[in-house]
Amino acid sequence: MSGFQRENCNPERVGVSAKASYLYRMIDLRSDTFTLPTREMREAMYNAPLGDDVFGEDPSINALQEKAAALFGMEAALFCPSGTMTNQIAVKVHTRPGDEIICHEYAHIYNYEGGGVAFNSACQMRFISGNRGLITADEVAARINPAHDIHAARTSLVEVENTCNKGGGSCYELEELKQISALCKQHDLKFHMDGARLWNALVAKKETPETYGQLFDSISICLSKGLGCPVGSLLLGSTGFIREALRVRKKLGGGMRQAGMLAAAGSYALEHHVARLAEDHLKARRLQEALEDCLWVKAIERVETNIVIFYLHPGREEKAFLDRMKEQDILLIGMGQGKLRFVTHLDVSMEQVDQVAEVLKKLN
Ligand SMILES: *Cc1c(COP(=O)(O)O)cnc(C)c1O
Repeated sequence: MSGFQRENCNPERVGVSAKASYLYRMIDLRSDTFTLPTREMREAMYNAPLGDDVFGEDPSINALQEKAAALFGMEAALFCPSGTMTNQIAVKVHTRPGDEIICHEYAHIYNYEGGGVAFNSACQMRFISGNRGLITADEVAARINPAHDIHAARTSLVEVENTCNKGGGSCYELEELKQISALCKQHDLKFHMDGARLWNALVAKKETPETYGQLFDSISICLSKGLGCPVGSLLLGSTGFIREALRVRKKLGGGMRQAGMLAAAGSYALEHHVARLAEDHLKARRLQEALEDCLWVKAIERVETNIVIFYLHPGREEKAFLDRMKEQDILLIGMGQGKLRFVTHLDVSMEQVDQVAEVLKKLN
């Protein structure tokens, strides 16, 4: 299947650069953002009924938003160009300047959103470390500032990431999230989930979106990661929250017009690309197994979903390793200090994963 969908997108067909053609033949395990839309997804996009979404008149966007809200049992949803935007909007709506946000130090909203929390919301962060990017209710409780203390910043938001990217695709236990949610209610704090890869967590834990919808004031989910869409993320919450979110999206320049073509890809993916994530998790386990046999690997993070993080032995140079893999047409990402990452997805087949496993085993 994957060979076919990439054939459909072969850059040589439109006469593009040598670099693009070169990337096209690689086994690209850098990220699940590199997926290309399948033929069926493109057909759904081509056939999408369209309108002007800034006027609320794009039927495909409205359908996607309603579908997603219903899946999570939440009141409303908002389609946005990126997961960075859905997270940033949530932070903006939930906070006031000078507030404090409790999250893990691995949080995407802190590490990978260009300082957006400071830029857009003028908030500061209070970090929790360890445990593969997952935080506990006790750790949160210990960091909530007393509401009456004018010396301390006002704690207003708790943020979790599920799965956690920097934590190696780690997943929360539902029970822990329930406890954090109860704690937030008790202290009148908002609770946001960065669920860029929430579908991976739901599939791995065999849980339903509805269970999660009950626990959060807002959830951000990406369509452009493992679900294989070219663009798009959804922000979910109450009707009042989404009304405010719409204002912020407008200010950020995220109001799009006939973007129903993108939303149609999202609706297609929610129907056809969720259950198959289990295959991506299997592929990640195969890579983990291959790495376990490699003497040059110092450690591997526990693999729960589609991300495999491992560490090279000191003395092994990260760049040299990446170059050797590249010579074999395999791409992965270096996260610094000998920390490396594979992400499996629908454009890398099980056969290609086996091929990578063979290459890994032969390296010494
Ligand atoms: C990818 C990702 C996002 C959103 O990224 P965009 O590229 O802006 O869509 C947010 N959080 C996490 C954990 C991610 O992996």
